[in-house]
Amino acid sequence: METAGTNLEQLTDEKWQAIVGNDATFDGSFFYAVKTTRIFCRPSCKSKPPNKENVRIFENAQQALSAKFRPCKRCKPTGQRLPDREWVEQITQYIDEHFQEKLTLESLAEECHGSPYHLHRTFKRIQGITVVEYVQQTRIQAAKEMLLDTDRSIAKIASAVGMQNTPYFMTLFKKLTGRTPTEYRQIHHKQPSLEGFIHENGKETGSVLDIAEP
Ligand SMILES: [Zn+2]
Repeated sequence: METAGTNLEQLTDEKWQAIVGNDATFDGSFFYAVKTTRIFCRPSCKSKPPNKENVRIFENAQQALSAKFRPCKRCKPTGQRLPDREWVEQITQYIDEHFQEKLTLESLAEECHGSPYHLHRTFKRIQGITVVEYVQQTRIQAAKEMLLDTDRSIAKIASAVGMQNTPYFMTLFKKLTGRTPTEYRQIHHKQPSLEGFIHENGKETGSVLDIAEP
């Protein structure tokens, strides 16, 4: 059979609206693929709306597969949805690799093809802590290692773990470890760095979270 790719359906306004609106009532009636990512989805997929000109429409998943598109990991157009546990593992891994960057619940949700609300709830249910808490723990753990392994200033370490607000970093560090970064470095390091003292005078004014609870 050489029909795959030749019996493309038209991207009608109705289909386009279904894609943009994540309309689940159209699930099963067509699938859409994105030429740039080579991924195909159900209409209801919560992934970011693609550029219209990059969309290809397929009647069924088999056609999309034949045209060498890969099924989206979130909406699993070829079968059942991705199990939540597996999804949360993907998100956890993403945070482990990207905690130095600016992360928001929205950007994580988009990256992992889910709604922020669903991400928040599912992550909490499976990991026992919120996404926000996991990001914070990951950053503070990396900071602890840097405090002992380097002589970098507190501000530089804060920035290196994705927290541009040094006073807030220090507040969070103390909250999670019971010690200030400088104390931590002094206690666990044979040669405490003087540099830390200079930055330790920051007030607890840091309320600017770059990742917020919904
Ligand atoms: Zn999808």
